Amino acid sequence: MKIVKAMTDFLFVRKCVCCKKILYSHERENAFCYECLLKWRFEMTRSCSSCMKSAVECTCMPKSLSESGALVLRKLTFYEPEKRGKPNNRLILFLKDRKNKRVSRFVATELLPLLRFEASVLGIEDVADRMFITYVPRGRKAKALNGHDQSDVICRELSDISGIPCVPLIKRRRGGKEQKKLSSTERASNVSNLLWIDDKHLSEVRGKCAVLFDDVTTTGSSLAGAVKLLRSSGVDKILCFCISSAVSKKKDDKSHANDK
Ligand SMILES: [Zn+2]
Ligand SMILES: [Zn+2]
Repeated sequence: MKIVKAMTDFLFVRKCVCCKKILYSHERENAFCYECLLKWRFEMTRSCSSCMKSAVECTCMPKSLSESGALVLRKLTFYEPEKRGKPNNRLILFLKDRKNKRVSRFVATELLPLLRFEASVLGIEDVADRMFITYVPRGRKAKALNGHDQSDVICRELSDISGIPCVPLIKRRRGGKEQKKLSSTERASNVSNLLWIDDKHLSEVRGKCAVLFDDVTTTGSSLAGAVKLLRSSGVDKILCFCISSAVSKKKDDKSHANDK
């Protein structure tokens, strides 16, 4: 078996998603090499300009999202797309381009403690029965171009390690404009026209708590549109999670509903 493993290791070289260095055998299940993992951890500890907590502790969310009825937005890092070399930006771009179990599993593993914490805040013990995981689907064009939806892949890994079922409840119609090219008001109406709920899954989610995932959130309008749909479908509580969220602005943010 050792020979087979050594051969597999040799044939399937794994690289750090940030600096592209070949990973040592003890790092093979990680997304990053040791140096880049330290940089990723540093990103997780960066302070929120609104609540002053670290990114991974910050529960601030854009106004549109808190008004939609989401209980909380948990993030691993803050999003600054112009700083392309940052490990979080490299990770997000990597997952958009490639369907990769190891890197998706890494993200899921990083999200799991936040998910468990939020479940405990709500007093949910039997998470597999009372919660479900779902996501804001990617546009069809982007999905066709890359052959996968990174949020779907990450959510399935998260489901695998948490035992919480993943339900592909939210669907996206053809057409619509690219969110990043629109103002926040235009984004909200664009999303509400685009997203719809697949009725065949309704019985699996009614009265449950949703773990709603999107890889990146800036204005929060995609998540807010999805939250409204989930609420109108009889979902009880909605917790939002992302890899990166735009750096918060004081006037825009509202803290965790449970902090009050
Ligand atoms: Zn690296
Ligand atoms: Zn904050």
